[in-house]
Amino acid sequence: MAQQLVYSSKINKIRSFALILVFGGILLMYAGILTKGIEWLMVIFFLLGVLMVFLSCAVYVWIGTLSLKAVPVVCPSCEKPTKMLGRVDACMHCKQPLTMDRNLEGEEFDEKYNKRKYAKVNKNNNK
Ligand SMILES: [Zn+2]
Repeated sequence: MAQQLVYSSKINKIRSFALILVFGGILLMYAGILTKGIEWLMVIFFLLGVLMVFLSCAVYVWIGTLSLKAVPVVCPSCEKPTKMLGRVDACMHCKQPLTMDRNLEGEEFDEKYNKRKYAKVNKNNNK
């Protein structure tokens, strides 16, 4: 089997994280219903579940603000509009790696280009 690029766009990643939180919260509340014989356990499950659902709401709001900051680009590979965050990101539709930095064009895709440390080193080299 050919090796697939497992990297997905940051916004998609955060979105699936929020989705997992919602399901986790619902599952915890369901566990609360199942354990209603033990009152303190039920309360803990319920509180945790509500907390997780609230947290996912916060994450959704966060995605909203992130999307506003993201740069809209048209993917060169599938020609669909996508949004990217940071110096390197992947297309939301075809997972094509994209970069904002001409120096990195053609380089192997690496998450490390988004790290502040790398940006600093690069800046020093350009002096
Ligand atoms: Zn694409």
